[in-house]
Amino acid sequence: MNNKEYWNKKIETMKRADLEDLQLARLKRTISTALDTRYYGGLYAEKGLNVDSIESLDDIRKFPFTVKQDLRDSYPDGMTSPKKRESIRMHCSSGTTGQPTVVFHNQHDLDAWADLVARSLFCAGARPGDVFQNICGYGLFTGGLGFQYGGETLGALTIPAGAGNTKRQIKLIQDFGTTVMHAIPSYLIRLYDVFEQEGVDPVKDTNLRMFVIGAEPHTEAQRKKIENLFGVKAYNSYGLTEMNGPGVAFECEEQSGLHIWEDSYLVEIINPETLEPVEEGEIGELVLTTLNREVMPLVRYRTRDLTRFIPGECSCGRTHRRLDRITGRSDDMFIIKGCNVFPMQIESVLMKKKEVGTNYLIELVTENDVDEMYVKVELRSEYFSDSYHDLEKLKESLVHQIRDEVLAKPKVLLLPPGELPQQEGKAVRVVDYREAQR
Ligand code: ADP
Ligand code: ZN
Repeated sequence: MNNKEYWNKKIETMKRADLEDLQLARLKRTISTALDTRYYGGLYAEKGLNVDSIESLDDIRKFPFTVKQDLRDSYPDGMTSPKKRESIRMHCSSGTTGQPTVVFHNQHDLDAWADLVARSLFCAGARPGDVFQNICGYGLFTGGLGFQYGGETLGALTIPAGAGNTKRQIKLIQDFGTTVMHAIPSYLIRLYDVFEQEGVDPVKDTNLRMFVIGAEPHTEAQRKKIENLFGVKAYNSYGLTEMNGPGVAFECEEQSGLHIWEDSYLVEIINPETLEPVEEGEIGELVLTTLNREVMPLVRYRTRDLTRFIPGECSCGRTHRRLDRITGRSDDMFIIKGCNVFPMQIESVLMKKKEVGTNYLIELVTENDVDEMYVKVELRSEYFSDSYHDLEKLKESLVHQIRDEVLAKPKVLLLPPGELPQQEGKAVRVVDYREAQR
């Protein structure tokens, strides 16, 4: 496929200086809209901030951060502008970490969002005429309608398949010749198991040619695993409800980082402790300001997602900077035996093993006053029947490799497929029982 094609060539390949001019104009508009909301209006008046405070993009740093709790405190609509009256849709975050946050949209906001998702899909290689199956919960969750309108705007036959009902998903894939599919990575492995059970070969018996995967942290090793199982390329998709949902940052066909759409989002990466910007290329917390939203502008929203800018330009010709894959949320980290651990470090070890499926669970427990980390891992069915000796060897090697990666020694349990609880939505990777056991 010709990767020098763009959905919106002018915007996607804009010279940096022009892009920054556009950002500055839009930032002023965002601040002006924010001043009309109850929340920012009060806050900025107190601090003497207004549109004149913005002369350059760096002036964003005069403005306070917005955190999830601020959205919760302004529940349900304290952060909306008077354009709230024009709202025709609302969404809530999935509430993975507490009370959901609400975002309202008018027609302008929805059109702009659908266009960003269409741009994102095109950027990864989807084209008008594709059959796009969206395996994702519809409803308040943004992945359903977000990709639905995006796929339709792209000009793809967009199948609102919804979540679950795996056999029916496979029937849809076969009956309608699905070429592009969106799903969360943890679901795709389950889907593959059912392909196997049903005797359907994803390469020979379907038209699948690309996946869009996202909504939850996953490693490069997990992407590779998915690509190898299905024989289909998988592109990383990043978004969050507070910033609309999908369509914030997306991989292009180079698969070397996610282009974040800088005409619509002003991007900062900060050290979550000092709140100062990190050095270019260093990992920090992603902070985003909406640049093209009318009903609910958000200024310097702390996503809690950890990433870095990938230095240099992308060979696809897009000038919007690239983010590295999200390594987790700043609040995902746990401490065990004095070591700071991110679940993705453990996943990266697990996913490199051919015997391992994709479902795993890290349990933190206190046994006889000592904290222990259990890593429970489902194996792929064909390997679970291996000899006791082989399984012991696999277990030993996992224990050592995880210890080398995170410095704390885990206890590894190998399980047959289907043993671990399955989530309807995003995978839960860590359960901490320690407080309760003390
Ligand atoms: P919730 O915070 O309730 O889970 P959302 O459904 O809005 O609400 O989820 C957005 C979050 O999902 C992001 O902040 C990020 O942590 C995670 N996420 C989304 N896409 C990706 C991705 N491609 N890689 C890693 N994490 C992702
Ligand atoms: Zn690119």
